[in-house]
Amino acid sequence: MRLVRFERQGQTRIGALEGDQVVDLNDGDPDLPTDMVDLISKWSDDAVAAASERGARHALRDVRLLAPIEVRKNIIAVGKNYRDHAAEFSKSGFDASEKQLIPDDPVVFTKAPTSVIGPGDAIVLANDPTGTTDYEGEMGVVIGKIAKNVSKEDALDYVFGWTIVNDVTARDLQKRHVQWFIGKSPDTFCPMGPAITTRDELPDIRESWMTTTVNGEQRQHAPISALIFDTETLIATLSEVMTLEPGDVIATGTGLGVGIGFEPPVYLESGDVVEVSIDGIGTLSNPVK
Ligand code: MG
Repeated sequence: MRLVRFERQGQTRIGALEGDQVVDLNDGDPDLPTDMVDLISKWSDDAVAAASERGARHALRDVRLLAPIEVRKNIIAVGKNYRDHAAEFSKSGFDASEKQLIPDDPVVFTKAPTSVIGPGDAIVLANDPTGTTDYEGEMGVVIGKIAKNVSKEDALDYVFGWTIVNDVTARDLQKRHVQWFIGKSPDTFCPMGPAITTRDELPDIRESWMTTTVNGEQRQHAPISALIFDTETLIATLSEVMTLEPGDVIATGTGLGVGIGFEPPVYLESGDVVEVSIDGIGTLSNPVK
């Protein structure tokens, strides 16, 4: 199932995406939570399947899609998780924290929840005073149940599904402040969506590819299988020390082809449209203003 959050006639609902239609799950079963984190926490295959049979159907064009999760916590994100991107980032001179070209252990940082926007929402360049705004297309792992001390072998059992995150970054802030948090967290700098594809529908995310375009021009095209630290390793590494909770999102890192890989760097400009696609999840499209 591909789950979305949407707004229609002033109400926020959870829907199942079917072709160019959205089935209103909250209409199909008024007892289902309207909050995605709650729905994931209390997930029932039977209840959701029944709701998807009964719920009202709307044309996709008649609703406004929102970020699939109203996040309550920081987005967990992983840096330098593709070899060729790690090399491109190092060469750009923007990595003030560099210890190794290819890390031995995952480079983990977070993005503020206030940075999250939905499909179609604008990335606002005014939130980056340095004018060095760059895109990073990424696969996002959505956690399905409380995870602590989970082994790599069991890690996928804790995955609810997959989404798309654009880890938009203010490059000069990322470099200037050494710690990446501020450069990764300007308002609107975390587009997410359009959907969460549940793991039963997309059991092996490694078979998918991630593609990023700017104004239709392909900039990134990477197989998820090329991640240095895969989903299982990331969940094992994080859960060894911290409790992961339902609805937590891990942005797993970007591939080759970001704007600072160009010489000179090519930053996003007002009027651009950035689209990140992952097979089996969809396309996350955001204008830049
Ligand atoms: Mg990133």
